[in-house]
Amino acid sequence: MAEAGKTEEKVFVKKYRKPAKKKVCAFCVAGEKTIDYKDVAKIKKYITEKGKILPRRQTGVCSYHQRELCTAIKRARNIALLPYVGD
Ligand SMILES: [Zn+2]
Repeated sequence: MAEAGKTEEKVFVKKYRKPAKKKVCAFCVAGEKTIDYKDVAKIKKYITEKGKILPRRQTGVCSYHQRELCTAIKRARNIALLPYVGD
């Protein structure tokens, strides 16, 4: 009987857990190789309101573009386009 319960649980998880939607990198889709650090409107989507860079698993950005993004954000911060610390 214990085994039956286990199977039910598994079925439940399979049935009700949302299927992981495969995210595609927005920069790859747009065909952009480099990310312009002056394009604050675009970069802003990838930082939290506290000014932290969002992790890849949340944004779906590929590793290459995440690296580019990181550099772009750091550059933008350096010339005060983005904050180091949000309010
Ligand atoms: Zn990409």
